[in-house]
This record gives sequence, C-alpha cells and structure tokens, in this order.
Amino acid sequence: MRTVTEYLKARPEDRLADLIGKRNAVNPALYHRGPTQNGIKLGAQGTIWRVPKDLIVPKKDLTGGAERGILIGVDKNSIHSPIEQGRTDGVGEPWAIRRHGKPLNDRQQAILDKLPEYDSRVIIDKGDVSMTDLAALTAKTGDEFAMFTQGSRRLIVRGDFEHVNIDKSMAAEMNAQGFKWSGHTHTKGVVPSEGDKIILRQFRQNLSSVYDSEGDFNFFGKS
Ligand SMILES: [Zn+2]
Repeated sequence: MRTVTEYLKARPEDRLADLIGKRNAVNPALYHRGPTQNGIKLGAQGTIWRVPKDLIVPKKDLTGGAERGILIGVDKNSIHSPIEQGRTDGVGEPWAIRRHGKPLNDRQQAILDKLPEYDSRVIIDKGDVSMTDLAALTAKTGDEFAMFTQGSRRLIVRGDFEHVNIDKSMAAEMNAQGFKWSGHTHTKGVVPSEGDKIILRQFRQNLSSVYDSEGDFNFFGKS
C-alpha cells in the first residue's frame, strides 16, 4: 500500500489502477477529493506526456488472430503527439472547456480526430490518454466516451450523448482478452446506470469509474 503522500502524487489513472487492484487499499473519498490547485486537478496539469512509439496496435495483436473480434474498426493510423507540460491556462481542462469554451490540447485533439463519429474506436498507448482526457472530449463534443485498458494499451470508444455501444457479450469478450474497464464519461452526473453495472459484472474487477464533463468523477461497483 502506498502512503497517502505517494498516492496523491500519483497520476489519476495509476491511482485508479491501485483501487481496482486493491479495493479498500485507499479510501476512495480521499481520492475523490483529490489534489487541486486553483480549481485545477493536479493529475492533468504539469503532466509530461511521452511521445508514443507505437500508438496503434493492429487488430490481430489484440484478438489473437481471431476473425471475429470486438475491435473491428480500430483505426491503425498513428497519432503523433507533442510533449506537453507546465501551465495549461485551461486548455485541455474539462471544466474550462465546458464552462469557458477553452480548446482541447493538441494531444486530445489528435485523439478526437481518430474518433470522428459514434462508435469510432482507437487504441492508444496507456501513458498517452487518461480519463481526464475523456472528460475533456465529452466537454467538447457532448458525447460519452469509454476506456478499456489491456497491459500498456487502451481502447477508447466514442458513444453518443447517452450511451456507448458496448453490450454484455462485447464486455465479456474484452474481459477474456484481458481488458479492464477503466471508466467512462457521462455528459452530466457521476451516478452509474444499471446498464453500467451490468457491463462491469462482465469484468474481473470490482470497481470502475465514471467522469462527468467537468472532470469530476466517482467509482462504482457491481451492485
Ligand atoms: Zn454510464
């Protein structure tokens, strides 16, 4: 278990991984409050993003060569991201995008460019996208997004204003492929739906997260 100080320094997705891996290891209420500075959540501000070497993984690597797979439609083109660090002045911050019309940052925009419409899917290196980024995309587009993580890769799926197209059988298949459901966004509110809980029950994990379009978030369980 990490100390509280180490925990608060960790990136949000790493903290989430801790929570999923060791439920009750850290008090979720503590995480929810989170470290902020001038209203900006610290996980996103000041983060140095690695330039990805191999952002997009061919579908066959994820499906084990199977013909049928949930990943049909994954864009294989690469995304080239600038290194970002330091102050954001609201750029790329969900609350500032939603309330003040600030733009996405370049990395988020590159991700959105690969998700042009409902049910678009893309695979991105784990270090190059966070749930806060998905909240920013929701603030920008008014659509929900979901994130699934398998090792060092993340699958991002674009939904519409009220849902993402992941059904029970897709979720079970992703679980079989080793994916965890890191979280998803809502356009408003962080209360999970019954459908969210049904999907979570297909995964070998206890918790997932839901973020709203201002970057606030909550965890939910299977019941
Ligand atoms: Zn939901």
